[in-house]
Amino acid sequence: MTGPRDAADVVVIGGGIAGISAAFELAGTGHEVVLVEREPTLTAHSTGRSAAQFLASYGEATNRRLSAASRQFLDSNADGLADSDVLLPRNVLWVAPARHEAQLEERLRANATTGTPCDRLDVDEAMQVCGALDSAWVAGAVLEHGGFDIDVAGLHQAYVRGARSRGVKILRQHGVRGLASAGDGWRVDTDAGEFSCRVVVNAAGAWTDEVAALAGACKLGMRPLRRTVFTFSTSYDCDNWPLVISADESFYFKPEGPGQLLGSPADEHPDRPGDARPREVDVALGIEAVNRATTLSIRAVRSTWAGLRTFSPDSVPVVGFDPYVPGFFWCAGQGGTGIQTAPAVARLTAALIGGEIPAGDLGALESQLSPKRFAAV
Ligand SMILES: Cc1cc2nc3c(=O)[nH]c(=O)nc-3n(C[C@H](O)[C@H](O)[C@H](O)COP(=O)(O)OP(=O)(O)OC[C@H]3O[C@@H](n4cnc5c(N)ncnc54)[C@H](O)[C@@H]3O)c2cc1C
Repeated sequence: MTGPRDAADVVVIGGGIAGISAAFELAGTGHEVVLVEREPTLTAHSTGRSAAQFLASYGEATNRRLSAASRQFLDSNADGLADSDVLLPRNVLWVAPARHEAQLEERLRANATTGTPCDRLDVDEAMQVCGALDSAWVAGAVLEHGGFDIDVAGLHQAYVRGARSRGVKILRQHGVRGLASAGDGWRVDTDAGEFSCRVVVNAAGAWTDEVAALAGACKLGMRPLRRTVFTFSTSYDCDNWPLVISADESFYFKPEGPGQLLGSPADEHPDRPGDARPREVDVALGIEAVNRATTLSIRAVRSTWAGLRTFSPDSVPVVGFDPYVPGFFWCAGQGGTGIQTAPAVARLTAALIGGEIPAGDLGALESQLSPKRFAAV
């Protein structure tokens, strides 16, 4: 069905954390914004499937700077729009078995570059932080302070509330199936109506290359990588445990409520954009890895899911106007840090669409994030 043609300044494609945060910031800088999402639920894909961790030291250097630039907004509970705390303290314990302790030293060096406070722990000290570590497996640990659980649903809802109050039209079940340049803008053809606009923001997560193709832009080679998650019960009093992650990132687990833990084999399987499903073998490998390092003795899981972490070819997000297709803006490739970097990415998106380069660190990142870096010379 084609509804009446509607006009907006900017159409944002995708209602996950990237799209909703961009819509919020764009409306705050005076743009008339329509957000279109294919699913009935805005957080149906990666945003609703994350491990919900803020980890300042995680990812490439550029991701880490985006995370730092996002802290203030997250600390302020989304400028007071969230009902409760968006960040709740949850430190991170990097653990390593014998003969792999060099990875802990690397971790200490990497954290020194971000100024993240860390302590090197011996086995006894590590077991005081997480009583389920197996002393026959763990040889040492690094406790990284300043990590947090993120209330992802609360943050996303705060953005929805803020965007609506700024006049953003949020349209679910409006999958974009065509993009045609029209005059100095776009005609956006969706499952439930047609829109005209000056700028299209491509915040379609794993589908960003597909949306680019609709616009006649070159695909950038975005890589959706599937990651598996499972939850399980434990008789340990685990509420105050940190996120425990092996130094080679071959597994992690963290508290998920009283007597509940969330685990993952930290897998990265290339996949197609879509409704990612967990494979039994990956759940089994995750259980095996956690059981090897701990006395948790997982035998049964409560729930399992998988989600896509979508990376650009150089694993740095892509934020900026396409160099060849006018009015087509990329907000893509947030990989494994898309929640914790969303506030900064959204602010940069709004500034660049408004024709500005923001002052400070965010402005300095503009060229590193630009899709121009992939342009043929
Ligand atoms: C297991 C796992 C653990 C993670 N852990 C963390 C973590 O601890 N911390 C962190 O910061 N990040 C984490 N991430 C990464 C984070 O979840 C993602 O980077 C982030 O959610 C990406 O947001 P997005 O809005 O780009 O994508 P999505 O949430 O996938 O949103 C994209 C939306 O675009 C819509 N769409 C696509 N095509 C169209 C179309 N043609 N028309 C209309 N709509 C369309 C889709 O339906 C989708 O809803 C994790 C991810 C996974 C999978």
